[in-house]
Amino acid sequence: MLGLMMHWPLMISSLIRHADRNHGETEIVSRTVEGPIHRYTYRDAHARSRQLVNALRRQGVAPGERVGTLAWNGHRHFELYYAVSGMGAIVHTINPRLFLEQLTYIIEHAGDRLVFFDLSFVPLVEKLAPLCPGVTTWIAMTDRANMPQSPLPHLICYEDLLAAEGDDFEWPEFDENTAAGLCYTSGTTGHPKGVLFSHRSTVLHAMAVCLPDAKGYSAQSVVLPIVPMFHVNAWGIPYAAPLVGAKLVLPGAGLDGKNLYELFESEGVETSAGVPTVWLGLIQYMKENNLRFSTLKSTTIGGSACPPAMMKTLRDDFGVRVQHGWGMTEMSPVGTICSPKAKHRDLSMDERLALSLKQGRPLFGVEMKNVGADGVDLPRDGIAAGDVMVRGPWVLRDYFRGDGGNPLSADGWFPTGDVGTIDSDGYLQITDRSKDVIKSGGEWISSIELENIAVSHPAVFEAAVIGVFHPKWGERPLLLVVRKEGATVTRDEMLKFYEGKIAKWSVPDDVVFVEELPHTATGKLSKKTLREKFKEHRLPTA
Ligand code: ADP
Repeated sequence: MLGLMMHWPLMISSLIRHADRNHGETEIVSRTVEGPIHRYTYRDAHARSRQLVNALRRQGVAPGERVGTLAWNGHRHFELYYAVSGMGAIVHTINPRLFLEQLTYIIEHAGDRLVFFDLSFVPLVEKLAPLCPGVTTWIAMTDRANMPQSPLPHLICYEDLLAAEGDDFEWPEFDENTAAGLCYTSGTTGHPKGVLFSHRSTVLHAMAVCLPDAKGYSAQSVVLPIVPMFHVNAWGIPYAAPLVGAKLVLPGAGLDGKNLYELFESEGVETSAGVPTVWLGLIQYMKENNLRFSTLKSTTIGGSACPPAMMKTLRDDFGVRVQHGWGMTEMSPVGTICSPKAKHRDLSMDERLALSLKQGRPLFGVEMKNVGADGVDLPRDGIAAGDVMVRGPWVLRDYFRGDGGNPLSADGWFPTGDVGTIDSDGYLQITDRSKDVIKSGGEWISSIELENIAVSHPAVFEAAVIGVFHPKWGERPLLLVVRKEGATVTRDEMLKFYEGKIAKWSVPDDVVFVEELPHTATGKLSKKTLREKFKEHRLPTA
């Protein structure tokens, strides 16, 4: 027997309609690429999104069509999120930090005909245009006064498009499983793979993200996502904020310490989200200028492991509670967020820190397990490390156009490519990406653990650990260190620093000091580049 409740499909458009009706005066504030701060309300954003639908229809955009965006976090990108998906088409957010060949590949693979871009990307778009014959129209996300002088063919001005339209449009209702957004993984090997989110997966993910033990957003929150809207929907924040009516602050291209700090302060931001690298820059700027936050209380840090030293600095020096989060493009992206339970109330500061270093518990909607090399489920004891597998309504089941092989295990789980432990309270701790684990003899050494220790040294700005060839052990850890400006530390001091902190056999065999470390398009240490660069490195122990 079926229940007798209404069939009301979960539509992305219902988020912005809800925000207009119930939080119509709540602000969305953006640092524009043109310079000034732009502010308007959810009501304005809703009206302009509907104008944009009318403009898209005039451009012949049909349901199911992919519409590309190359843009920072800003109000026009927000309007595209709602207009494109709301009319039944698909927002294809493109990561401008990818290589030209990857960009060309994904624009062609997605079949984008229209691409919207921020002014910062004019030089990039000029390079892309001749390589992407499928794109017939390039739309600069600006007004007439700021239109670039560019030889681009079929160049249109965003504000001109909108000015020609009214906001008379009713959001259509259709199957909630309809595709709404497309995002390609950075593809460390092979071509990038397209992950196609649906209305249902996006709305369910946004609801889960708002829960108190997740990000706990409410109509009183002021949220600034540093995570980009061009990669996995800024962790779902542009959908979660209107769901609860939180004020949204969008930093545009200003992701350096100074610009971020000023926006945090001027807009009264209380909570944020970003990868460790951007926090490195922000902390450094604030320390150099002896600054404090007046409103920021918490932030989610994920995308790569947040080092304990960073958590401690943010907590003790800046009064910011860090919530560790974990996920990936294939998971929309949030899988776990680390929040304590009632039983953790009396933990000491150090015990709390140790708990916060775990990547967290799964949100409702994500089921998780870890398996050993034989594929058998491991005990949830916080000790046994194995391949982390997930399933749930916002986890991918196939890649776009089937290009990416069969992503699921025979019994329907998604192998994440991460290795970790799960404890009896459900907390996940990632020890490594499976391809980054250092296999020394029969033992597995966690590169994350070694990096965390290195960056807790006062002279270290950033560190990476990779496995390099060793004739006896197969692989041994090599530590690469970027020193803080003006700081000195020697190889031997660095190695000595590990003593007593970990088992002797996992201490790195060598240290190399470098000027900087390479990062991927999503701001992670590029271990692949490092392994390539140091593949001939001869360890003194070899
Ligand atoms: P890509 O960089 O290929 O686009 P994602 O941005 O989806 O991939 O990143 C997903 C990966 O990032 C995860 O599989 C995991 O290895 C890593 N990751 C994400 N969050 C964390 C975290 N909190 N701690 C450690 N690793 C993390």
